[in-house]
Amino acid sequence: MKKSAFVTREQAEEITKAYPTPFHIYDERGIRENARRLKKAFSWNQGYKEFFAVKAAPNPFLMGILKEEGCGCDCSSYTELMLSDAAGVQGENIMFSSNETPAEEYALAAALGATINLDDITHIDFLEQTLGSLPKTLSCRFNPGGYFAMGTEIMDNPGDAKYGFTREQMFEGFRILKAKGVENFGIHAFLASNTVSNEYYPTLARQLFELAVELQRDTGAHVAFINLSGGIGIPYKPDQEANDIQVIGEGVRKVYEELLVPAGMGDVAIYTELGRFMTGPYGHLITKVIHEKHTHKEYLGVDACAVNLMRPAMYGAYHHITVLGKEEEACDHQYDVVGSLCENNDKFAIDRMLPKTEIGDYLAIHDTGAHGFSMGYNYNGKLRSAELLLREDGSVELIRRAETPRDYFATFDGFEVYDRLFPGERREAERENQG
Ligand SMILES: *Cc1c(COP(=O)(O)O)cnc(C)c1O
Repeated sequence: MKKSAFVTREQAEEITKAYPTPFHIYDERGIRENARRLKKAFSWNQGYKEFFAVKAAPNPFLMGILKEEGCGCDCSSYTELMLSDAAGVQGENIMFSSNETPAEEYALAAALGATINLDDITHIDFLEQTLGSLPKTLSCRFNPGGYFAMGTEIMDNPGDAKYGFTREQMFEGFRILKAKGVENFGIHAFLASNTVSNEYYPTLARQLFELAVELQRDTGAHVAFINLSGGIGIPYKPDQEANDIQVIGEGVRKVYEELLVPAGMGDVAIYTELGRFMTGPYGHLITKVIHEKHTHKEYLGVDACAVNLMRPAMYGAYHHITVLGKEEEACDHQYDVVGSLCENNDKFAIDRMLPKTEIGDYLAIHDTGAHGFSMGYNYNGKLRSAELLLREDGSVELIRRAETPRDYFATFDGFEVYDRLFPGERREAERENQG
């Protein structure tokens, strides 16, 4: 499938008058339409709910859009909980799926009324000590170990993953929790990542539904929901076929009717915690070509770098690139598209075939709407970019400003040259000290 950008060269030129490159831009229409398709695909299930995995795109404006489409938030840290609260998503609309969780994070989750998803059996005591008593609803994360396979194909390696309870611990944990007064139980598992296959959820659902039936039968615990978590992937490469969420929803329904309904468990709610699938394709990193270098290879130097999008450097991940305004030109030139970090892996693309590209051209790097901006960092003193929202009416809104050097220096409390670097500005801390 041909991948096309949701921004044109003309739009990029207009936007950069107000907001210079690099920036991430998100497509509100795409996000909303996709969220509606997901909701429809699982509408057969009474209690269905998607909890957007905040780590994929931790921006309260985007979380607010998803909230309007009926989504809650899946959080796993203190500030993600705060973000969710700030976006108006509270109470049972928050799923707290954390691991190695600090006490203060459990305390905030409980204070916000979030549903807590325990990652380990030892956290039962830890949570009870932290909160004084256990909530009436709790979920446990399951890790079956071994390999996760679909047919003969190995998809991922849960046996190597730090997350979750073993099968035996699930039974023991449910018994303990039930004895301690927990009334509603959830089962959660995340066994494979970025699956571009309509079979992942139905295969996972079969494992979890079978487990749920046994757990309810053997422990007497009431299973209220089963959380299929994240892992539905997106086609980063043009030759990949996208998942069909309608087919996925129907696949889960079939297993539900085969396993849960006959066991008298037709009231179990299905939850998802998708991140990548919700926002991934609806974000671009827009960057400008500022240099051409001809040495042992042909390089395009751009004004973004790996701090703005880490996936290519970290995983060797493919991100499609469109040279805006040259969509119809032949891709007959081979380039490495590189940023300015003093790190040789700072390459958005290696040996990529693109149209002949010049200094001043805008590149749209695709599929940066999830695990893009959010994985950003400040290596080499580089700053985080702005995030923009392309509204459904075509207008563009700044939903996070770009960092400035002042932000970078803001945490060096007591550093004397601050006043010299940013004349006229004094830090909060100094003002308070001088009261
Ligand atoms: C990362 C994560 C998700 C979202 O994963 P995607 O691959 O982005 O769908 C959901 N749940 C938990 C617990 C996660 O850690």
